[in-house]
Amino acid sequence: MNAGQQLADEAARYASMGWMRGTSGNLSVVLGRDPLRLAVTASGLDKGELTASDHVTVDALGLPVGDGVPSAEAGLHARIAAVSGAGAVVHVHALAPVLAAQRWPGGVPLRDLEMLKGFGRRAHDDLVTIPVIPNGQDMRVLGDAFERGYRADTPALIVARHGVYVWGDDLRQARHRLECLEWLLRFVVG
Ligand SMILES: [Zn+2]
Repeated sequence: MNAGQQLADEAARYASMGWMRGTSGNLSVVLGRDPLRLAVTASGLDKGELTASDHVTVDALGLPVGDGVPSAEAGLHARIAAVSGAGAVVHVHALAPVLAAQRWPGGVPLRDLEMLKGFGRRAHDDLVTIPVIPNGQDMRVLGDAFERGYRADTPALIVARHGVYVWGDDLRQARHRLECLEWLLRFVVG
């Protein structure tokens, strides 16, 4: 399956979960590393109705290579892919991560929960802190804040009052991690 169809299929799943309301959120897959190229869902479209052609190729700065208008957030996707080595990055506007960041602006602590296994960590005796960075419209500033708090064993980032980024080797692994993380964050916000 080509990258565009994979992105459309994943976006439809997230939209059905209520995590890509309006036209919010964006998904990306790495097409190549030297130089870095990502396919990112196109900006401004209903994420439940994307077709295989509704994506844009961007470079390491999130700027378009060829036709199409990527989301401004493509710059942060590219930064995350470059720093983490991930093959796919997903960004959604689920509510629980934003509520959790509001309560723990210095990072959301999680421990002793079975679902941590689905996030790639241990269920017991392993304090996992999900980094939180302030929201903003300059992706270089957000990227710098992400990189300062980056840990290779914690494949997620919450942008306060905005949404969450999760990444993995491919879109499927990123989705599994996001689904488990969203459950964990829903649990802690109560
Ligand atoms: Zn967003």
